[in-house]
Amino acid sequence: MVRFEPAYVRLHRSGQLTKRSQDARRLLASCQLCPRRCGVDRLAGRPGYCRSGALAMVASHNAHHGEEPPISGSRGSGTIFFSGCSLRCAYCQNWPISQQGQGREVSDDELAGMMLALQRRGCHNINLVTPSHVVPQVLEALALAAAAGLSIPLVYNSSGYDSPETLSLLDGVIDIYLPDLRYRDGGVSGRHSGAPDYPEVNAAALGEMWRQVGPLRCDGDGVALRGMIVRHLVLPGGLSQTREALSFLAREISPEVHLSLMAQYFPAHRAIGLPELGRPLTAAEYGRALEWLEESGLKNGWRQELDGSGGGRHDAIVREA
Ligand code: SF4
Repeated sequence: MVRFEPAYVRLHRSGQLTKRSQDARRLLASCQLCPRRCGVDRLAGRPGYCRSGALAMVASHNAHHGEEPPISGSRGSGTIFFSGCSLRCAYCQNWPISQQGQGREVSDDELAGMMLALQRRGCHNINLVTPSHVVPQVLEALALAAAAGLSIPLVYNSSGYDSPETLSLLDGVIDIYLPDLRYRDGGVSGRHSGAPDYPEVNAAALGEMWRQVGPLRCDGDGVALRGMIVRHLVLPGGLSQTREALSFLAREISPEVHLSLMAQYFPAHRAIGLPELGRPLTAAEYGRALEWLEESGLKNGWRQELDGSGGGRHDAIVREA
């Protein structure tokens, strides 16, 4: 049997990973990393919209068992939660981390050490949660970790608000893309995530991610090795434009792409008390989302149970021919 080798290991061996990290670091001098293009000098410690400076901030690193089945596997996904975010979603469930700076600054060496510690624990992969604003720091740490023997797949778990330039630096580095598709309507994304350009940015980002890694591939135990899974959280009141989102995915990306349809919405953070977002998803709303899933023609992935727990079981969509 041929042993799987993550993309970044090959890049490290050729010396390109270090070069990639140096190229990325230059983007911090007048920060253009994400579509906000704040232009602040993060190398001098000046934070932009994401509230992140020269060093990455990490809130936690741990084995996580609640991701989609091929990501969690039997031994867990090695999540690293980065503080800060280039979106400000009113309903963010991680808002103390993403919007209030909970976490601590870590050096590249420390970040590499976290990756290696997660591998030693037996995690199937390194799962970078909200990494879009810390790509240079991730690349620098990854070069150190690869030199020290890191060899499990790298998961890029983002809001899907990623710039094409930054994604091009990740070509041949990331094994598994796990982006969100949150909205297809700029009015709603502007109102509830502070990003009226989300639909266009997200469409281009998903296209580039798909071009880089293509369909999901797993090992004999069903654990992901390479590919893309797109997450779509169904919001109450039709705010996530689920019908349009699913048909966009099938039409513009591929009917083969793996979808993770999520029912775990509950009002959190600023959504509590907002007329549009201040209530959970109803069974009727989720039922309609499942009908649109049928209608879309998407064949692969998972749909969450609507069980009111804030994180229901993932059932396979199973329409594989
Ligand atoms: S990564 Fe942060 S500082 Fe850089 S452009 Fe985006 S929001 Fe602004």
